[in-house]
Amino acid sequence: MKALVKSKSEAGIWMEDVPVPKIAPNEVLIKVNRTSICGTDMHIYKWDDWAQANVPVPMVIGHEYGGEVVEVGSTVRRVSVGQRVSGEGHVVGNRSRNARSGRFHLDPDTKGIGINLPGAFAEYIKLPEFNVIPLPDNLPMDIAAILDPLGNAVHTALSFDLVGEDVLITGAGPIGVMSAMVARKAGARRIVITDINQWRLDFAKKINSGIHAVNVSKDDLKKTMDAIGMREGFDVGFEMSGAAPAFNQMIDVMIMGGNIAMLGLPPKPFNTDWGKIVLKALTVRGIYGRQMYDTWYKMLALLDNGLDMTDMITHRFDCDQFQDAFDVMLKGDCGKVILNWE
Ligand SMILES: [Zn+2]
Repeated sequence: MKALVKSKSEAGIWMEDVPVPKIAPNEVLIKVNRTSICGTDMHIYKWDDWAQANVPVPMVIGHEYGGEVVEVGSTVRRVSVGQRVSGEGHVVGNRSRNARSGRFHLDPDTKGIGINLPGAFAEYIKLPEFNVIPLPDNLPMDIAAILDPLGNAVHTALSFDLVGEDVLITGAGPIGVMSAMVARKAGARRIVITDINQWRLDFAKKINSGIHAVNVSKDDLKKTMDAIGMREGFDVGFEMSGAAPAFNQMIDVMIMGGNIAMLGLPPKPFNTDWGKIVLKALTVRGIYGRQMYDTWYKMLALLDNGLDMTDMITHRFDCDQFQDAFDVMLKGDCGKVILNWE
């Protein structure tokens, strides 16, 4: 089968012919229809320090996808051939305290599809039955391919009560923009998103009516807060950039006792004024992945209830045009970028 393989320890990705995966009794074989390229895939593409430390080569990459079940193992009961599905990309163990207690998303033995297990940028992928997410018939395959990052956005946004709250989102990449849409749906009052990429801010505004977008490389966030009638600071923050200046600005503009959910992964340690976090009595919560499987339940319920992600997809390519797709991602002026494997 065709697959995009990280086959060399250098920048790039290569389309190769690899064997179709063989499934174990508890596994399912999925024919991949659509995939979407993640920021994580770009770390692997660029072969940065994180990728070199975490991804063994050769490795089929990719973890955002929708497809159809074509084969099930002998002990599989919950999923059947022909079912339209996506999948949770964190494959967990069953030995740790958290896994034994049902907190699967906090299992330290987690392995990642497309990172240290064969991924979805391929014609077929195998997955444990436990990780397979059956999809409603009316959910388009393009949307199925972006459920993994939408799940990150939902998990972050629903970490704290949002009804009537003012929300600051630092980082207008796809997950930041999606988290704004979820926050609106969940009852947030004012939503402000910041970035230094004007294309991304314009895109965020275009698809989220009523959101306030601030380019912090040239505009003053506090001026925007004044202009929209904010007096005391943001109640909830979603840190989506991993950038030290963004986090440090966020703690400056939070209300006393405010809550911060932090999904953005800083590339290296940075200095922050811990005194402010203490004296403002802020809560900072790290967010990793999606809750298994409550985030998936809530996400599909929100989509069924009118959360519309259609406009998040800005580019579509055939899988053979993968280089064009990765070039668009490298430039960064895009929402979600889809590859078609049919
Ligand atoms: Zn992803």
